[in-house]
Amino acid sequence: MREVILFFRKNFFELAGWFLNLILDLLFPKFCINCGRLLPLTQKLCVCSSCRSTVRDMTSVLIDDNSGCEEIISALKYDGKIREAMLRFKFKNIKYLGYTFGKLLAEAVKDRSFMNEAALITYVPIHVSRNREYNQSAVIAEHICSELGLECSGGIIYRIKPIERLSSMNGYDKEFYIRNSYMFNPLINLSGKTVVIVDDVLTTGTTLRTVSEELRKHGAKHVYALIACYSKTQ
Ligand SMILES: [Zn+2]
Repeated sequence: MREVILFFRKNFFELAGWFLNLILDLLFPKFCINCGRLLPLTQKLCVCSSCRSTVRDMTSVLIDDNSGCEEIISALKYDGKIREAMLRFKFKNIKYLGYTFGKLLAEAVKDRSFMNEAALITYVPIHVSRNREYNQSAVIAEHICSELGLECSGGIIYRIKPIERLSSMNGYDKEFYIRNSYMFNPLINLSGKTVVIVDDVLTTGTTLRTVSEELRKHGAKHVYALIACYSKTQ
């Protein structure tokens, strides 16, 4: 009996966390982001066992000379239920989905040497005026780093213009606006360093191009991008 009490005392917080997750999963069940199937209780990764290999095969390595990045690694295709899951994560405050996007990206890059060589792993910022509980790219980046035992750095680049006005602009104005929307932290020295930048979705690539140019302007030698979802319109 004493051993049982000691066990509970030692593992109290872990057991309490597990129990809380169980209650949350009973109240708000989780579903596979690829097929929509109900997931087993307390499963953190929102991909069912049947979809694991399909989802793993979605990993793409993109080489786009205009992106300013050596490579862009994307975990998922921005389509169907995955797109819906990403929209829920971005706009409906379903924050736990960030773990799934981060974990899948971490698996996609865990054997890549640039991850360990990187002086900085950071993310695309959002403007402070955005009425969001969190920056979705930061959440994904933090999960990637936590999975791989690396450090995630914020405060490298700031978004100095809000994005809300973009919908009323044409293509040229939109590109100009985005390209003047970011400011680099002048206290950071990236001279000769490798930087990894994390973002949620890659569509036109303007944001990524702007951010990677900003990083290179401040000395970054190599820039790699990790993107949760890749849109076929790219
Ligand atoms: Zn599934």
